[in-house]
Amino acid sequence: MNQGKICVSICGKTVAEVLGRIEQARDLADVIEVRFDYLLPEEIDPLLEILATRPEQLIITFRPEHQGGARSLSRDERIAFWNKVAVRLSAETLVDLECDMDFTVNIESDRIIGSAHRFDDRPTDPSQYFEHYFDELLQFSSGARKLAVAVNDASDAVDVWKLLIESGQPAIAIGMGEAGKWTRILALAYGAFLTYASLDSTDVVAPGQISAAELRDVFRVKEIDARTHVYAVLAGNTSYSLSPYMQNAAFRQADVDAVFVPMQVGNLDAFIRRMVNGATREIELHFKGFSVTNPHKQSIIRHLDHIDETARKIGAVNTVKIDHGKRIGYNTDAVGFITPLSNIFDDLRGSRATVVGAGGAARACVYALKKAGADVTILARDSAKGSAMAEEFDVRFERLTTGHQHLSTDILVNATPLGTTGEHEQKSIASANELAGLQLVYDLVYNPAETKLIKEARAAGVKTLGGLDMLIAQGARQFEIWTGGVAPVDEMRAAVEQRLKQSYAA
Ligand code: NAP
Repeated sequence: MNQGKICVSICGKTVAEVLGRIEQARDLADVIEVRFDYLLPEEIDPLLEILATRPEQLIITFRPEHQGGARSLSRDERIAFWNKVAVRLSAETLVDLECDMDFTVNIESDRIIGSAHRFDDRPTDPSQYFEHYFDELLQFSSGARKLAVAVNDASDAVDVWKLLIESGQPAIAIGMGEAGKWTRILALAYGAFLTYASLDSTDVVAPGQISAAELRDVFRVKEIDARTHVYAVLAGNTSYSLSPYMQNAAFRQADVDAVFVPMQVGNLDAFIRRMVNGATREIELHFKGFSVTNPHKQSIIRHLDHIDETARKIGAVNTVKIDHGKRIGYNTDAVGFITPLSNIFDDLRGSRATVVGAGGAARACVYALKKAGADVTILARDSAKGSAMAEEFDVRFERLTTGHQHLSTDILVNATPLGTTGEHEQKSIASANELAGLQLVYDLVYNPAETKLIKEARAAGVKTLGGLDMLIAQGARQFEIWTGGVAPVDEMRAAVEQRLKQSYAA
């Protein structure tokens, strides 16, 4: 439990729109920020009059475009606006003033949030940049200081985070964008004055903003503190990851004091050096483990103190446990893959299985199938990669062609992204004709649940298995490795299904 507040940012063009959104935000927000820069100019005075009598704690913001506001605002417009606000402030209301303002405003300094927002002008030496802004922010207000900087990589937000730790005064430190989401989720646990949220996922007013309901119910940001164990998914792109929904539901159900956050990591070395390794890290977030995915499943290995036998044989790590500072790597994709398959086939010995793809997931599938005694063939478009992998695992290789594919197999596994929502959605590795006579088609892709390949298999009368069961089984094993407890599989499944439903509806 912490003392921080969730602040929902509201924008609207008219008084009616803003008031409607304030009503919607009341149950979710401790503080409501009203973005006057989104308002039509003629609506400003009437809204100020009404807000002066509202009971909610408000923050008034009138942000120019260069600071991330909705429109360009002249110096005169800003002066006139803040002079009006100064005489209409209700007792609880705070104001957000950008630290580039070169005029004074007659508002008590402890009601001012002194803010700086930077989107694209980071110098090559970030420390100089931050020193500059810290100085300005420190001079600016005796209230809270807020620094929001767009980041492309999770570890770039370390510089911003330091404001929270080092400022000695109420602070708000935000890494904007997908890569900075962790700063919004962990903020309150580390003493931030507040964390900003959107009213819902369609009303995001700053890059990387998370909806208030998600911050409260998925990440439980008000229930965590600086002793809470932190887990993260490390991925080149975390925006599609279902792991935060699945693992946070598990932690909540099992009553584990832990939170699972997205960490969008491009530069893995910098992430480990600046945020994880006890000897070099610049901040301490109490990491206890990671779920590792593309493109880091192999490159993470050089950062481990120990790797378990299965992960070593597969040559890929999708799970890291941090135990007394030591990083131990595991692979739960193999067990995740084989668990649902074993529910269909009592015995895989002698079954012919073809795995399409030669990437990280295919390696885990081939390993698990071989171990279960299946007769395995790798089918991949890259002959060099596929045949090297076949040699490594002592299985057969065939080249995947774009034309008709002759499949003499019992089980076909798709371990490529073909069929995934987006550019690949309408693609399938095989048609109904080619699949006729197979015993099972297993598609690792889970988004959408019914891929083109699954539809083709159904049309051919072939039994199917989608990727969702594997996702949950590999996640359940991760939970068990991290906590030593039994994974609450039903809650994990429900959380994933609900998230998928929401993303289809969006
Ligand atoms: P990866 O390491 O990037 O490997 C992808 C493989 O697919 C590579 O062999 C790649 O070939 C091949 N490929 C990509 N595009 C292709 C195309 N257009 N035609 C033919 N082959 C193509 O990815 P991964 O980690 O193995 O993941 C593969 C899929 O499995 C992804 O969709 C992922 O979401 C899914 N997955 C699901 C689960 C689950 O729990 N259900 C777990 C892990 C992965 P090249 O090497 O020639 O590029």
